[in-house]
Amino acid sequence: MIISVSGGKGGTGKSTVMVNIAILLAQKYSLVLADLDVEDPNDHILLGVKLENREPINIMLPFVDYKKCIKCRACGNVCDTGAMLLSPEGIPYVIPRLCSGCRACYYVCPTKAIEEGKRTIGYTYLTNVDMDGISFKLVSGELIEGEEHTPPAVIAAKERALNIDAEIHLIDTSAGTSNTVATAFDNSKIVLAVTEPTPLGLHDLELILKLTSLMKIKTFIVINRAGIGPEDDHVKLSRQYGSEIIARIPYSRDVVESYIKGKPIVLYKKDSKISQIFYDIVNYLEEVVNDD
Ligand code: SF4
Ligand code: SF4
Repeated sequence: MIISVSGGKGGTGKSTVMVNIAILLAQKYSLVLADLDVEDPNDHILLGVKLENREPINIMLPFVDYKKCIKCRACGNVCDTGAMLLSPEGIPYVIPRLCSGCRACYYVCPTKAIEEGKRTIGYTYLTNVDMDGISFKLVSGELIEGEEHTPPAVIAAKERALNIDAEIHLIDTSAGTSNTVATAFDNSKIVLAVTEPTPLGLHDLELILKLTSLMKIKTFIVINRAGIGPEDDHVKLSRQYGSEIIARIPYSRDVVESYIKGKPIVLYKKDSKISQIFYDIVNYLEEVVNDD
């Protein structure tokens, strides 16, 4: 079963929610946590572990065999990223950084002058997490700094995670509501939308709810930093989309301390009010799954 957690813009606290529910679920189920926030993976930092077992994420990079090229310009005309530049005479030049590896140029070339090379755009990692006798696997995707092609990195990390047998796969999506988030949501049974009571939080929550309603995925809302602003519009939105608000997490010094210690709050302060909220979220999710 796949459960995804998304948070719209960065900084809503989705990774905090994710690692804490991962710890609680891993006490009962075999679990893989996939950190698909490939531009800024940070679940390992919140868990206080070092990333291990690195594998490259490669995409196709075209090479032109100039002996076969007839300067027909088809490759440059089909390329929509500007990676295949054409000189005034029609000679193609590849700019690797801009290439998404889509292969369109390879397919349109009438003389097979384009050969397939490869380029590393990032890495996936497989890390064994073992904290206080609770263990699970963490798969993280990471783009090399300056790389822009997030979808292949998200797909590679998700595939590596799903290839590991487990009862639950938890997916931590990237920030925003782009197509990489939709890729991360794919096949999810439940999405947890983490938001905060601010106008920006409301705006991004609406985008997430629109996306999950299009994808027909059951979605529940968690309001983080509850109390810092009005929630009336969040409540209205939740009713409009039929997505229940299942938890409100107030700002807490304990959570900040748990970041500093590199230990999720449910382990750092098991009996705190905040930890109880995470227990309630997990109990709720279990009930939803069992009722289905
Ligand atoms: S693989 Fe795609 S993005 Fe790269 S140069 Fe060819 S058409 Fe352009
Ligand atoms: S499509 Fe092939 S033949 Fe035409 S310009 Fe590009 S590399 Fe040369």
